[in-house]
Amino acid sequence: MKSKLLELVFGLGPIIVLVLSLFAKPSFDVYKGTTYFDGNEAYDYLVKICHKFRRRVVGSESDFLAGLWIMGEFKSLGYEVYLQNFTTRGFYGVVKAMNVYAIKRGKLSKYIVVMAHRDVVPTTIEGANDNGAGVAVLMELAKIFVKRNLTLSIIFLCTDSEETGLHGARFFVNNFPEINEIVCAISIDMCCWKDASGLSLIAYYYPPKFSDASILLAMLSLRRLGYNVIVDPLDEIMARLNLVFAGTDSMPFVAQGVPAIGICDYPLYPYWHKEEDTLDKVSSSRLQIVGELVERFILTVDSMEKLPEFSQHYLIVSDVYFSWYSLYLTTSLIFIFTIIRVIRHARPSRKGLVTYLILYLLAVLTTTLSTPLCMKLKSFVLTTTIVLAVYSLCVWIVLRKIEFPAREVQGVSIIAYDVLYLPSLILSPEVALILLTPMAYVSALVRSVKKYKVVLVLAVTLVNVAPWALLLNYVFSTYGYKLSDKVLCYLTRLASYRFGLLAYVAIPATISLILVTAVISMLIILRSISTHEE
Ligand SMILES: [Zn+2]
Repeated sequence: MKSKLLELVFGLGPIIVLVLSLFAKPSFDVYKGTTYFDGNEAYDYLVKICHKFRRRVVGSESDFLAGLWIMGEFKSLGYEVYLQNFTTRGFYGVVKAMNVYAIKRGKLSKYIVVMAHRDVVPTTIEGANDNGAGVAVLMELAKIFVKRNLTLSIIFLCTDSEETGLHGARFFVNNFPEINEIVCAISIDMCCWKDASGLSLIAYYYPPKFSDASILLAMLSLRRLGYNVIVDPLDEIMARLNLVFAGTDSMPFVAQGVPAIGICDYPLYPYWHKEEDTLDKVSSSRLQIVGELVERFILTVDSMEKLPEFSQHYLIVSDVYFSWYSLYLTTSLIFIFTIIRVIRHARPSRKGLVTYLILYLLAVLTTTLSTPLCMKLKSFVLTTTIVLAVYSLCVWIVLRKIEFPAREVQGVSIIAYDVLYLPSLILSPEVALILLTPMAYVSALVRSVKKYKVVLVLAVTLVNVAPWALLLNYVFSTYGYKLSDKVLCYLTRLASYRFGLLAYVAIPATISLILVTAVISMLIILRSISTHEE
């Protein structure tokens, strides 16, 4: 009776913790006073940028002249202005590039960096929303902050060479002498599309580093004033899984340990890097919203003098926040729960161990072979289908030959699972929660229910498949079928690029561990319907 209670506590505990943490989102006192940002004035800047400085590709004369013009505007406002000249990789070889920044001095020599890149890709002409609008917002902000008395200092930074790999921001981070005095940084990039419904907070990561939760919470606190600021779940999940395939200038700051974010249109701007990215896609009312939001953000941080420190471990889905302690508590409870289950119900035997190992090695083999296949066929869906078919066949053959001691195999599979779960919950409880939790439950829960097994199978299947289905659904709905296929292939390639040879062994091995544990868990459930053990 006592141990049943123990199981109940550790089994239900994680769910209760997660539900309770929904009500514990910290909120900041945001600046509610007068704002001076004027969307129409920003729009005037934008018209000039789009008409006078077309095709501002890094290294071009247009890009250089735009930089000089911005320097002139900053100077005319009375700021101290700095130029950073550097050589960088352009689209067609090595080119000269230039950052421009102005400093507004506050009482302290601690800085908030507000930045926008001015260069464009060769496929756009005006680059109105990417990122003429960002520069226009930056310049209007510089203008209105001349009059304000602040505690913190502000750096208005117009970067170059963002489109060829965030080189301007990287150069700034590596060469600004007081980098450790930067409180936070924000990149205004492609966020003034007239049909956008909201603003997405992006690029607060440079995996494995993440911005402290406080910068996101400060931004999300501004929702109370009616700004539709969100964190896109797809973006968050991808970043937590180390899969990032687009970025903005905030990322080099995060890499240096400075809390930073980018703001971007939500939903994603459909004319991104296209010729149609022209002035008519941007409205002064959107410029107004973005400018005002950044103005309030700056004044909010200024009133605190620095951002409080929470943790780099959190999950934010839309505007729901799971703190580091709720993540660690949840995953630890689940871990203890699985151990209790092994001790009480699923003692591993040698036979179980052997069966599991054979299945595991088969899975490693098939997934290892499929990684280069995926790149060769350039179709993720096709490859996955082939791999799953081959693997299922292998499992079927193995299980026909060997008597399948469900109870013992379950014990081994839970332990194998915990081998993955424990380091994951220590290093990144987010990843443990997103990817591993459903299956940890599946493998541990199965045997306790004697009635309603069909319902259990359905529920467990749903829980098991849901995170993957949601993830795929997001990718497919964002990019469409064909492009999604390309994106998923690209991610596989990226993984092998990031991790080198290791990707060919470690990634398939990890995927296999998940795959084989999932398959075995499902088989155990199916078997437990037909037989009555225990
Ligand atoms: Zn951009």
